[in-house]
Amino acid sequence: MTTATHEETLGFQTEVKQLLHLMIHSLYSNREIFLRELISNAADACDKLRYAALDNDALYEGDSELRIEIEHDAEAGTVTVRDNGIGMSRDEVIANLGTIARSGTAEFLKQLSGEQQKDARLIGQFGVGFYSGFIVADEVSVRTRKAGSSAGDGVEWRSKGEGEFTVADIEREVHGTEIVLHLKEDAREFADDFRLKSLVRKYSDHIEVPVRMPRVEKAREEEGKEIEGSEPLSWETVNEATALWTRPKGEISDEEYQAFYKHVAHDFSDPLTWSHNKVEGKLDYTSLLYVPGRAPFDLYERDGARGVKLYVQRVFIMDDAEQFLPLYLRFIKGVLDTRDLSLNVSRELLQQDPKVEKIKSALTKRALDMLKKLAKDKEAYQTFWNTFGAVLKEGPAEDFANREKIAGLLRFSTTHTDSATQDQSLADYVERMKEGQQKIYYIVADGFNAAKSSPHLEIFRKKGIEVLLLHDRVDEWLMSHLHEFEGKSFVDVAKGELDLGDIEGEEEKKAQEETAKAKEALVKRVREALGDEVQEVKVTHRLTDSPACVVLPEHEMGFQMRRIMEAAGQTLPEVKPILELNPEHPLVARLEEAEGDGFGDLARVLLDQAVIAEGGHLDDPAAYVKRLNALLTA
Ligand code: ADP
Ligand code: MG
Repeated sequence: MTTATHEETLGFQTEVKQLLHLMIHSLYSNREIFLRELISNAADACDKLRYAALDNDALYEGDSELRIEIEHDAEAGTVTVRDNGIGMSRDEVIANLGTIARSGTAEFLKQLSGEQQKDARLIGQFGVGFYSGFIVADEVSVRTRKAGSSAGDGVEWRSKGEGEFTVADIEREVHGTEIVLHLKEDAREFADDFRLKSLVRKYSDHIEVPVRMPRVEKAREEEGKEIEGSEPLSWETVNEATALWTRPKGEISDEEYQAFYKHVAHDFSDPLTWSHNKVEGKLDYTSLLYVPGRAPFDLYERDGARGVKLYVQRVFIMDDAEQFLPLYLRFIKGVLDTRDLSLNVSRELLQQDPKVEKIKSALTKRALDMLKKLAKDKEAYQTFWNTFGAVLKEGPAEDFANREKIAGLLRFSTTHTDSATQDQSLADYVERMKEGQQKIYYIVADGFNAAKSSPHLEIFRKKGIEVLLLHDRVDEWLMSHLHEFEGKSFVDVAKGELDLGDIEGEEEKKAQEETAKAKEALVKRVREALGDEVQEVKVTHRLTDSPACVVLPEHEMGFQMRRIMEAAGQTLPEVKPILELNPEHPLVARLEEAEGDGFGDLARVLLDQAVIAEGGHLDDPAAYVKRLNALLTA
């Protein structure tokens, strides 16, 4: 027996305490995932040792056959997971098994609802790996030693998961880590050979490191117990133990792809789709990319986890290598294994290597193709779009070269369905275009309803021309980077001259010109009455039901974008709107007949109403109300 020295008891970080509390008291479903997490950590530790040993063979301490061992003792109610990987120093034990270093932990914990099913999923996605041992154990002990240190540098960590843990120095012959779970009464079922083996196969088949378990001897089995404390007579490897992505596609089942996804993405649920490719030639790599079915909690966080797991010639190099995919595809998870980089590549070196850029552009194409394929399954694609659509909308601004491809993957609300669900593609729109229509029309507003009932749509509805209804915050910015789709340019219906091209006949155009002429005097009077409130006044044929609307010059920033930027504290140069009047409207007819103050007030009310209909704010709302009331009581 070794004696423990320098023993100290420390408190868990607050976040860990909260998490442990949750796991101990509310997670009863899906308890088996603890094994996946511990094996995953053990495999990571082996990967890390293999990588570190590239430079320093001595770290293996004469034992380069990396492996994970799982043992159990039904009588004592324990399960042991052991690896001969990198191990941990005392400081590392305290940091890794006492805190959660990941950013966003506090926000994550806020999301937890107390609803078991939902929280279990969130936890899986958060990947709190090690602490999941406490789902099934009321005490966990860890014995570890960092590879390359001396036998006296061993560390023991123990905890009942109740707020504190104890660390002590121990003597430990071998490097690597051994974790012993003392199972709770109601979790004893896990101390079972058959159960453990099937769990290993279920969750860890694809892990390259062999997972071994003692071979159960027939005779011993009949005796009904295993001999305690003695070395097993022989071991058997329970998992497949080949890295999944290195196997030929045809030999991998969907279940295996899905299980592997859960391992790389720390996710409980199945991915929507995946794409597995081997490339040889100028570039030499294998990639396995997945589209998750749910958004990770840190999707919109600046330093959220993103990117692929990077291997070089099968050696694990790093997690979250974000250099291989653009930001707008940050939801993609997976693995990249390449021969094009050297084994000593670091994050800094990745930024300089021209090969990285080439692989990135190849993976980007793969990912976009994968999404295009997914789009054939309408229901699955809608799930994707509702989850990640807003991220994909960042694409056209970030990735000039793939703009058209990305545009094809976007989904919109339109006047065709009048539904807030964004489920119509640009290809759908183009197919429905009217005879003579050359442009793709859209409107941007603060919300779906504001877009749907904007006065700018009146003429389009009358003529049966479809308009895209954009109501996401990023939409106006998106549209400023999209210029064309299939050779058709985009037109904001709230900006510039209204030009319906060949949809309008010669006669219609002529009639419009005549009306404009007939109303010249009115336009001039309104212009004078409103002074520098507007930059121009016109008669319009945009409107059928509303008396007036405001329009911006074609190259001005739109109303919605202005409001977003102003809300963010930016001061923007003022732009005066163009006021357009509907010559057919009774209020405009009344305006024509009005005189003196009455004329000025009515003109002003029409302008203010148009601004309100646009979703804008009035500088002096009380004055508007007063004028309106005066008109109503006149
Ligand atoms: P994650 O694996 O996502 O980092 P975990 O909670 O599973 O989170 O593990 C926390 C950390 O503890 C790991 O990052 C690793 O540094 C350390 N760790 C856990 N298990 C082992 C092990 N078997 N060998 C070495 N280090 C380990
Ligand atoms: Mg882990």
